[in-house]
Amino acid sequence: MNKQIAVIRGDGIGPEIIEQALRVLEKVAALYGHTFTFTDVDMGGCAIDKWGDPLPEAELAKCLASDSVLLGAVGGSKWNDVPGHMRPEKGLLRLRAGMGVYSNNRPARIWPQLADASPLKKEIVDRGIDFIIVRELIGGIYFGSHTTSDVDGVKTAVDVLTYDEREIERIGRIGFETARKRGKRLCSVEKSNVLDSSRLWKKVMHALAEEYPDVELSDMLVDNCAMQIVKNPAQFDVIVTENMFGDILSDEASMITGSIGMIPSSSLGASSCGLYEPIHGSAPDIAGMDIANPIGTILSAAMMLRYSFDMAEEADAIERAVGAYLDAGWRTADVMQPGMKQVGCSECGALICSLITKA
Ligand code: NAD
Repeated sequence: MNKQIAVIRGDGIGPEIIEQALRVLEKVAALYGHTFTFTDVDMGGCAIDKWGDPLPEAELAKCLASDSVLLGAVGGSKWNDVPGHMRPEKGLLRLRAGMGVYSNNRPARIWPQLADASPLKKEIVDRGIDFIIVRELIGGIYFGSHTTSDVDGVKTAVDVLTYDEREIERIGRIGFETARKRGKRLCSVEKSNVLDSSRLWKKVMHALAEEYPDVELSDMLVDNCAMQIVKNPAQFDVIVTENMFGDILSDEASMITGSIGMIPSSSLGASSCGLYEPIHGSAPDIAGMDIANPIGTILSAAMMLRYSFDMAEEADAIERAVGAYLDAGWRTADVMQPGMKQVGCSECGALICSLITKA
């Protein structure tokens, strides 16, 4: 298969971690007979320096013409004083809007080799943590109107939470499709005992379930879900939820896995062209030192293969190689433990590449 991948190295550790993900993709391409063509895209602080704009139209166009986008990270203190509309993060918001991605998907997975890094009790971690939160990204209360006014002399703030059935259906489909590619269990999270938007959410999810008889749908109230994520995370396969609930639950879920450098993410819309990036930022404090953990970016590339290119075997091969790397006791500084062997960013990438094999 031939695939065009837009590559945004960005700022800080972005170029270092992306380099390792590209090596891994090249190895997979050679092993499975694919061709990946990489197109460099300037976004973030480096684009401000070069073009005076965090995401010039021509750079966005390169992303839209590709089969998917792989992003390192953007931002840094050098650009703190630029006007708000010119900040590096504006490039990211423009990219998400331009690509029309309405779903953010974040896996919460604990690698047994790093179980000590989790703040949860060992007996809970030992049951396994491996689920994905599919969060609606461009609707709900964050995108409703926000007003503060005086009502009878009392300052009153109003934030409006709206969802229509089309918005719910399209994110629901991503939830069902994601579950179909994993353990075939989908938990729809809402607050239907209080909110009308949640009652509509639940109704639409159940109507959709008829189209996905192979996926088992369950419902959970968001407050219960927040408790269940720390009490019994092993029960979850895929969680689908609205914007604000997903914002909070996905941060809770990333904490229980222990390490920010290990977590990938994807953002998807109506087409198969997705945006794939680690959940961390540009880590300016360690940029250029060759000590960053590239695994979140490497696993983001694996997600791209699985969810945008339908290359499940190839994605499995990358994830197996990451497991083998950890089994062999290699660790970057952020997850270093006594008795393990410390490696830098590029050595980590090289080791993982060397461990990629066909099943
Ligand atoms: P950060 O995630 O960059 O760093 C937080 C801490 O985690 C730092 O100590 C850093 O060294 C460490 N860390 C992060 N990724 C790591 C990795 N792969 N390996 C080892 N250690 C790692 O968050 P921050 O310091 O709040 O933000 C730095 C910059 O990144 C800011 O300009 C912020 O706006 C930007 N940012 C960008 C994105 C993005 O591009 N999607 C996301 C978040 C923050």
